[in-house]
Amino acid sequence: MTVLPAEKTLVSQDAITPITVARGDGIGPEIMEAALRVLDAGGARLAVEEIVIGERLYRQGVSAGITAEAWDSLRRTGVFFKAPITTPQGGGFKSLNVTIRKGLGLFANVRPCRAYAPYVATHYPAMDVVIIRENEEDLYAGIEHRQTDEVYQCLKLITRPGTERIVRYAFDYARSVGRRKVTCFSKDNIMKMTDGLFHQIFDSIGAEYPEIEKEHMIVDIGAAKLAVAPERFDVIVAPNLYGDIVSDIAAEVAGSIGLAGSANIGDHGAMFEAIHGSAPDIAGQDIANPSGLIKAGVQMLLHIGQPEAAERIHNAWALTLEDGVHTADIYNSGISRRKVGTRDFASAVIARFGERPRKLKAARYRAGSLGVPLPKYVRPEPQDKNLVGIDVFVEWRGGNVEALARRMQSAQNGVFELKLITNRGVKVWPNGLPETFCTDHWRCRYEAKAGKQLNKAMIAELFGRLAQSGIEYVKSEHLYTFDGKPGFSLGQGQ
Ligand code: NAD
Repeated sequence: MTVLPAEKTLVSQDAITPITVARGDGIGPEIMEAALRVLDAGGARLAVEEIVIGERLYRQGVSAGITAEAWDSLRRTGVFFKAPITTPQGGGFKSLNVTIRKGLGLFANVRPCRAYAPYVATHYPAMDVVIIRENEEDLYAGIEHRQTDEVYQCLKLITRPGTERIVRYAFDYARSVGRRKVTCFSKDNIMKMTDGLFHQIFDSIGAEYPEIEKEHMIVDIGAAKLAVAPERFDVIVAPNLYGDIVSDIAAEVAGSIGLAGSANIGDHGAMFEAIHGSAPDIAGQDIANPSGLIKAGVQMLLHIGQPEAAERIHNAWALTLEDGVHTADIYNSGISRRKVGTRDFASAVIARFGERPRKLKAARYRAGSLGVPLPKYVRPEPQDKNLVGIDVFVEWRGGNVEALARRMQSAQNGVFELKLITNRGVKVWPNGLPETFCTDHWRCRYEAKAGKQLNKAMIAELFGRLAQSGIEYVKSEHLYTFDGKPGFSLGQGQ
């Protein structure tokens, strides 16, 4: 499979930015054609390279859904304008979105969710929120294990570089597009170390942006507020899982799922797409709404430093909506004036270039903006790291925790001391509550005896003794202090 030559190359006189385009599956080709026409007529200075991805390749046995040649184009341009693709049913296919996200290091997902009342039904006409979600780590790192008959685990990874970059990106984004407030969602009242780091970095980086209002909310109350009072939010930054959930809540509440675009920003490129799928049920009928992809195109123009074209297109698009020129999905006989197909909708937008919406908020993107800078990470000096103990996770069906404690103590030798046993995080030894329900998965914490300095060889010996006494250990975590501060949590009830 080769990179297809551009079926239509949109090069204006002063073409400056090469982009890679995939027309996708289902309604993809129709809405991409409409979006490219709008971008071209709107003054976007683009040189388009086309690639084929998705269903056609999956059917030819390319399980990744993308070829090496397509990657060459993505590497060359670093800007990917992507129509939706159809994910084939059944196993054996890799998620193309995950492949692209990893390949391009797309660390930030940016999803504007705005109400377009009364033209699109919503309870919250004043809503205008941008969700900026970390895209690479957290519970989505995909590191999962089954450890015992009863217990499965998913590792939640929150890193300093990952967090610093997403938080800085959120503040730079707010500054670049003139937004006034950034709200951080986390659950640091429970996950004090991982979400605690996210919150702490939000506070310290936020201090560098004095003109922007900052607030932090626990994610559950934050999500609840977003669902009932979305107009109180401006920009929201969140780790991957919370961001994923709240961005769907926000799009739904705005009522504009079919009209929203999203940007994925990374070190090696950026990807812009509509948030809906390939809608095979209406493909090929010239009735799909191209708005989501046009809006993604506006985000792309901002990213590549073409704010004038972005503003012109956004405002003409909003005026089209306001004039009641609607595709079937949002057509409402009370408010719409003309039902149009995909092609005619694009033409209606083009006919309104240079005009601004009268009722909907007009976009004002700053001329000369070069998009949001990619945040750099400066690695801090390493801290003084000291090994002070180990948590050994054990499969044990005996039920009697005193018996387990005696067996674990018999392996501790003169260096370690068994301090704690928890089950699902709750302290059950010493002095646990008899009511605590226990699974077959126990965390046994050894700490260094007073005056003893631990090393890795001592840990290896400990495991030797545990193996000899037939303990079914399934995993361990070293306990370190960093500059004297514990790098581990206490057991609940400890
Ligand atoms: P979908 O978003 O494609 O469709 C849901 C409903 O919304 C359908 O009734 C559809 O007709 C309608 N719809 C969607 N976009 C529309 C538009 N622009 N104009 C008018 N109506 C529109 O979701 P789905 O049916 O669950 O998924 C279809 C395919 O798309 C699946 O193979 C799925 O895996 C894929 N998908 C791809 C992406 C992507 O490429 N980023 C995202 C989501 C789903």
